[in-house]
Amino acid sequence: MTMNLTRRKFLQTASIAAAGIPLSKVVARAESKPGVTKAPLIPPGSFKDTKTVTGGVCEMCFWRCQLVGKLKDGVLKKLEGNPKSIDNGQALCARGNSGIKLVYDPDRLKYPMKNVGERGKPKWEKISWKEAMDTCASKLQDTIKNHGAKGIGVWYHGASAHYPTAFFEFLGVPNLYEPAFYQCRGQTAMAMMQTLGFVPNEDVDMPNSKAMLLIGTHIGENIHLSHVKNFLKGLENGSKVVVVDPRFSAAAAKAHIWVKIKPATDTAFLLGLMNYMIGKGMYNKSFVKKHCLGINKLTKHVSEWTLEKTAAECDIPASQIEEVAKVLSENAPNVSIHPGRHSAWYGDDYQRVRANACLTALLGAMDCPGGIVRIKRMSTGHVHWPEVEYEEDPEDLALAELAEKYPFRPPGTPPHLMRETMISGKPYPIKSLVVWGTNSIKTMPQQEETIKAIKNMDFVMVTDVSPTDITMWADILLPEACYLERYDHIEKGTQWNQGDKPQQFVAARMPLIDPMFERKDSVWMINELARRMGHTKDIPVQTQEEMVDHMLEEADLSIAKLRKLDGIYIQPGESPYLKPGEEPTFDTESGKIELYSEELEDEDFASLPTYTKSEEPPKGYARLIYGRSPVHTFNRTSNNAWLAHEAPENPLWLNDESAGKMGIKDGDRVFLENQDGKRSAGSTIVKVTPGIRKDAIFIAHGFGTFNPAMTVGYDKGIDDNSLNSIAKIEGETGVGGMRINFVRIVKDNKAIDIPA
Ligand code: SF4
Repeated sequence: MTMNLTRRKFLQTASIAAAGIPLSKVVARAESKPGVTKAPLIPPGSFKDTKTVTGGVCEMCFWRCQLVGKLKDGVLKKLEGNPKSIDNGQALCARGNSGIKLVYDPDRLKYPMKNVGERGKPKWEKISWKEAMDTCASKLQDTIKNHGAKGIGVWYHGASAHYPTAFFEFLGVPNLYEPAFYQCRGQTAMAMMQTLGFVPNEDVDMPNSKAMLLIGTHIGENIHLSHVKNFLKGLENGSKVVVVDPRFSAAAAKAHIWVKIKPATDTAFLLGLMNYMIGKGMYNKSFVKKHCLGINKLTKHVSEWTLEKTAAECDIPASQIEEVAKVLSENAPNVSIHPGRHSAWYGDDYQRVRANACLTALLGAMDCPGGIVRIKRMSTGHVHWPEVEYEEDPEDLALAELAEKYPFRPPGTPPHLMRETMISGKPYPIKSLVVWGTNSIKTMPQQEETIKAIKNMDFVMVTDVSPTDITMWADILLPEACYLERYDHIEKGTQWNQGDKPQQFVAARMPLIDPMFERKDSVWMINELARRMGHTKDIPVQTQEEMVDHMLEEADLSIAKLRKLDGIYIQPGESPYLKPGEEPTFDTESGKIELYSEELEDEDFASLPTYTKSEEPPKGYARLIYGRSPVHTFNRTSNNAWLAHEAPENPLWLNDESAGKMGIKDGDRVFLENQDGKRSAGSTIVKVTPGIRKDAIFIAHGFGTFNPAMTVGYDKGIDDNSLNSIAKIEGETGVGGMRINFVRIVKDNKAIDIPA
């Protein structure tokens, strides 16, 4: 890799460093620009004489960092990491700090409202909770009466959606979709499960690794605090980092080897790497012999991926593949091959993740320092609605049967099938939609289809904290208490601390302040709905406190005990490494790591990791790749005044040589137009950089809010999802790859071709 040092430095400062912006700086800068934020000035000394309230758990992203609040006269003045935390410690990221601006955001939903205008062009009228709940209950009951519970569709996300989702399942609703699976990590989970017999998520022991391989994983832009810390600890400890990415990401800026790969060829790279390592005997033969199924088949299968062929396909030097193989094999088994998270890229993603798992297996990088580890967590209980035996009606199962076409799908209904059903009424009508905490307009590709489906509903109920885009299509809009104002289902409150001493902990989300205006929590809302729908006797818990206490019981804890412990219970943990003489076990069909999968073969899918060539960009276009901004969590934080000040829009990365030929300069304002002539509604500025390939354009995901009620984030930047007019549905999982759309640049209303 050759890169001018000044440019390199510039790129570095734009990434990991941004994640660590101290609160004082963010505030000072945000407050210094009148008009940019509605935040009141914070006078010096405002944090003095504050009272500390413990027990908070952040939800500015899903990572659940533990926090405390500084309270003065009942007002939250500051958030800090909980000093007792063995996870995030006293730190919060920029988003975590800026939770203050969410809780007091004047644009937040305050009251239940009904839409007296059109869906998509709403006119809101404030209504009482009684009217809101009466309307929701009677509309949902009408749907059940006319179409059965299958007439309801549920789109949901987040900790507070667990209780509502369980209620709709209890009602017999079979159509439930969660974007976390179908637009994010679904294939990662399913492919890992098929190959290794478990889902490692991010449980990869980076601090104790000697080498790390990140394929398209941009830690540092993707900020999950303890995860970033683990990555940095690994770097500090001298781990060699290989980053495979078409873009010079934050992680690439820290890498020893940056593989500037051609987009959509990652699977070919992994196959080439495996072929080279097998051919040269650079793999852990004893581990593979004992624990893996199908090494001979894999050897034969990858043999076509010679160095030359792989290098040509991936558009990288052959010597770099050799170099990467050397780094990995020399440091095996203490190698962190990151499993990745968001994997809905090119429509062959299940196979790519399988290849990633197979490479991990070849190195034997499991259950040992630096490898994928199986963290033993404390468990907490569940809250159950009564189990109901519904009479089996083949009609009710018709959509589930269609979903059978994707035998390795993640939990829930593939969203494209649910959306088609909502539009066509086939195989049965879905006529009411419940949306809980997810902005599916910004997550599901083919936005027009999503809007068409929503418009086709008889009734749409949306619950959210803020007026996100999808709230514009609600008939009834319900304001939810935010994470600083409510208790919550305990999701991932139990972790192992990857320090010298293994430890486990439980931290339940507890409110730091009371909800303001008429905001309510999900247990209250759902119980009100359940009572009106004739299910009073089935309600499992009366309050959110009761729900959390019930869940904590399994760990011999309670809210009262946790409060006394400053919000976090910690106990000694177990090492996730194998003890001397201990053998690993794998919960697959064969009991081994399945390099070859008979189950996949039986279902007529590639039984060994296989590369499928993706379509090339049409002439004049480049592939649109998207990722994250270190100071935002997608669209969720776009209205946060402090964060919007740091990153108001999503600069478009354009290769410097291409920019020169196109006559585009750094800072120029442009729009994008995709291969189908779809032009972005919003614009953004160009970042001219050598840190991206010529055949790719990058923007961060989640910008371009089109709800004017989000007065800070409205119309800032480009909505990448609006350009995803194609989604390639993967046969194994039913998940749609989204990095298969191509764009060109529009400046001064003129489309400019991107040079080949
Ligand atoms: S990583 Fe940041 S936003 Fe996510 S939970 Fe932690 S502090 Fe909050």
